[in-house]
Amino acid sequence: MSKMIDKELQQEVDKRRTFAIISHPDAGKTTLTEKLLLFGGAIRLAGTVKARKASKHATSDWMEIEKQRGISVTSSVMQFDYNGHRINILDTPGHQDFSEDTYRTLTAADAAVMLIDVAKGVEAQTIKLFKVCAQRGIPIFTFINKLDREGRSPFDLMEELEQVLGIRSVPMNWPIGMGRELCGVYDRMKNQVELFQGDDHSTIEVRKVEDYRDPLIKEMAGDFLYEQLGQDVELLDVAGDPFDYEKVLKGELTPIFFGSAINNFGLQTFLENFLELAPKPEPRRSTEGMIEPTNEKFSGYVFKIQANMNPAHRDRIAFLRIVSGKFERGMSVKHVRVGKDIKLAQPQQFLAQDRDIVQTAYPGDIIGLFDPGIFRIGDSLSEGSSIVFDELPTFSPEIFAKVTAKNALKYKQYQKGIDQLTEEGTIQVFNTVSFDDTILGVVGQLQFEVFEYRMRNEYGVEVQLQRMPFQFARWIVAENLDPSKFRINSTLVKDKKGNYVVLFENEYAMRTAMEKNPDAQFLQTAP
Ligand code: GDP
Repeated sequence: MSKMIDKELQQEVDKRRTFAIISHPDAGKTTLTEKLLLFGGAIRLAGTVKARKASKHATSDWMEIEKQRGISVTSSVMQFDYNGHRINILDTPGHQDFSEDTYRTLTAADAAVMLIDVAKGVEAQTIKLFKVCAQRGIPIFTFINKLDREGRSPFDLMEELEQVLGIRSVPMNWPIGMGRELCGVYDRMKNQVELFQGDDHSTIEVRKVEDYRDPLIKEMAGDFLYEQLGQDVELLDVAGDPFDYEKVLKGELTPIFFGSAINNFGLQTFLENFLELAPKPEPRRSTEGMIEPTNEKFSGYVFKIQANMNPAHRDRIAFLRIVSGKFERGMSVKHVRVGKDIKLAQPQQFLAQDRDIVQTAYPGDIIGLFDPGIFRIGDSLSEGSSIVFDELPTFSPEIFAKVTAKNALKYKQYQKGIDQLTEEGTIQVFNTVSFDDTILGVVGQLQFEVFEYRMRNEYGVEVQLQRMPFQFARWIVAENLDPSKFRINSTLVKDKKGNYVVLFENEYAMRTAMEKNPDAQFLQTAP
């Protein structure tokens, strides 16, 4: 039976854009986020961007901040309106608070903005985050930042995107000069120039031009830059990839924009193009096929659980990405894994000092649900049915440590703590096959510190962590597994579900093991 799609729901879906900004620390993500919020006059922001900045101190400070604020500064969703759109920016923490949560958050985004420093190009953290986005096949938009500084040639950067990330690119605009010489960008798609004027480049003016040969450009940029622009654009026209929207949507081609976040250069055109090109909330796969956002029944899944760092308030917040239907405060939904109906009474759309109670929300939005310990990462909630969304991927940890309780008598609390923190996704736990040692795996060092802190404060257990030299984990799928084959610079362990995993000390050991076991599959995420 074909149902009439609710008009209001359709409109709300159409206007939404949910994305994450991925970058290496210092590329300017905080600055860009702040500027974007200013364009829209943010209506909901989780912990002001400045407050988040404060979290970039030493870990001990970070703990203090978490405690004071009662809720994590690392978890935020910012929402604002612009030109009839409602935009959700998912924060992906950088620096030392980089963790698996960062990866999981990306699963809730429908598009990514990849922010790159013009002088530094593609950096380590950009690569990691890009890979997760690429695996999902979401569209990726590139913003090359800090054009007000001397940087690398745009052609060089395009080449790097292809060599390092394996993605081809199509410049939507092109810088006219760079650093002190920067006078604007030429918009290839709309035939206009955006001029950055004034000594401090504080004025921005948009002018229509015939094309890149327009005398107007010569007038404002001077002969040299005008010639340079002509040559560059001609080369792009001849040798560059044409704009292909299908490829953009599949994440096979990234549109590039140039600008300077701190000076507001190129930001408005970037935002407007992005909103036009970025997808609206996408359907998600489930046991009942693809669930379309316009499906009237409310549904969503938990992609992150944030514990309250304040021991006086043990409650947790479960972050739910709405997949379909309309959310209304107080509604009853089915918690599918548990098989019970629950009432969503106090959802928070943003988490900051002043928590805000949400009345309604739509697909693409993220709501924070009060969690007295009933949710796990990946849980599905749905109205009147038992939809189960695809499991979230488990990401390969990169740092490992053997864990033991300092006081063996506390074994029960110790085990409980490990179980619960694993469930929340704070750590991944592995057991060695031979000695039944417990090895923890994390993506960022901070996860260990949070683990130790929470074991002490919430479970009353002092733990000892002994760093292990492993760098990679691969889930092994094989007919007959011979543990003796994984001894050199590697060790065979089992994950929580009993899957075999091999931990490797270095790439060489990993490659050797792959060569020795040609019939086995080595997976980067749990099967
Ligand atoms: P994040 O670590 O990615 O959040 O980066 P921030 O937004 O904190 O920026 C890092 C540094 O780069 C700060 O000192 C910013 O003021 C500076 N910055 C950001 N955008 C620009 C830009 O467009 N030009 C220049 N010259 N500096 C910038």
